[in-house]
Amino acid sequence: MNIVFMGPPGAGKGTQAEAIVEQFGIPHISTGDAFRLAMKQGTELGKLAKQYVDSGKLVPDEVTIGIVRDRLQQDDCADGFLLDGFPRTISQAEALDEIVRDMNRKIDHVINLAVDRSLLLARLTGRRICKSCGATYHVLFNAPKQEGLCDKCGGELYQRSDDTEEKVGTRLDEYISKTAPLLDYYSTQGLLRQINGEQDIADVTKEIAMLIRGQQQ
Ligand code: ADP
Ligand code: AMP
Repeated sequence: MNIVFMGPPGAGKGTQAEAIVEQFGIPHISTGDAFRLAMKQGTELGKLAKQYVDSGKLVPDEVTIGIVRDRLQQDDCADGFLLDGFPRTISQAEALDEIVRDMNRKIDHVINLAVDRSLLLARLTGRRICKSCGATYHVLFNAPKQEGLCDKCGGELYQRSDDTEEKVGTRLDEYISKTAPLLDYYSTQGLLRQINGEQDIADVTKEIAMLIRGQQQ
């Protein structure tokens, strides 16, 4: 099963990916995670990405596409993958079409988590992530049992440096101008599936799982 998660920053893509990859045994590929790891390690890619990620702008297409092309060739993607945060531009979507075609594969579903812009700021500024295992929490909407600590591994939680009010504004503008046009792109291809991302986390997971299993009415 080859799946793409779409939706604005804060829609719940990462949160849902955690649950879905566990159920379906496919790798979770997040370009945002790949950039943050490279930035933490201080690699050339990390240095390049930092100026964009820190300002809330998209990293240039050729860099991002190269990362995804390499990642999808790896063995653990043989039975499918879940892309989260890629593609984010029409050029990236066209490149993805070509990458999967070259692999004799196809995208099965593009799942859009629809959330009104008015909710996104609160979701993003309250987001906390585990330093050790990457699990996602929210200080109000999905709080850990013990403040500041991960329920799953006990790791320390941190706030992403781009989850500030100012950067969220830039990120949402980037989404509207560059990424939202992809909804039409995938709708035209008959691949777009809409899910109401404003429901409780567990209800969203249930709907996505049913859709992937082909049980949607
Ligand atoms: P994305 O990966 O799309 O940017 P995340 O999955 O990181 O979004 O979610 C953003 C924030 O919103 C996190 O703090 C997460 O805990 C919270 N969140 C995710 N889904 C929901 C939901 N259905 N209801 C309330 N809060 C949610
Ligand atoms: P995310 O973790 O998906 O919220 O992404 C964090 C940041 O990484 C974004 O604001 C961009 O700077 C960068 N990024 C992630 N995915 C992409 C992509 N597909 N294209 C360009 N930039 C990206």
